[in-house]
Amino acid sequence: MKVQIDYDLCMGDGNCSKVCPEVFEYDNDQMLARVTVSEVPAEYADRVRQAAEECAPGAIVVEE
Ligand code: SF4
Repeated sequence: MKVQIDYDLCMGDGNCSKVCPEVFEYDNDQMLARVTVSEVPAEYADRVRQAAEECAPGAIVVEE
């Protein structure tokens, strides 16, 4: 699984970094989240999907 953030949509609330901090890091200076892995480890896949579902603007793009 791969995951990206669409910065045209991200509103910077940081929820993804609370749901799965192993994959999403919140940058307090930029007020944006970023993905810290190139490939999502299998054990975090469900929480990455959850973060994508909870991302209100739909900014998390998951590639299975
Ligand atoms: S949950 Fe979505 S809108 Fe919020 S910081 Fe993460 S990618 Fe951006």
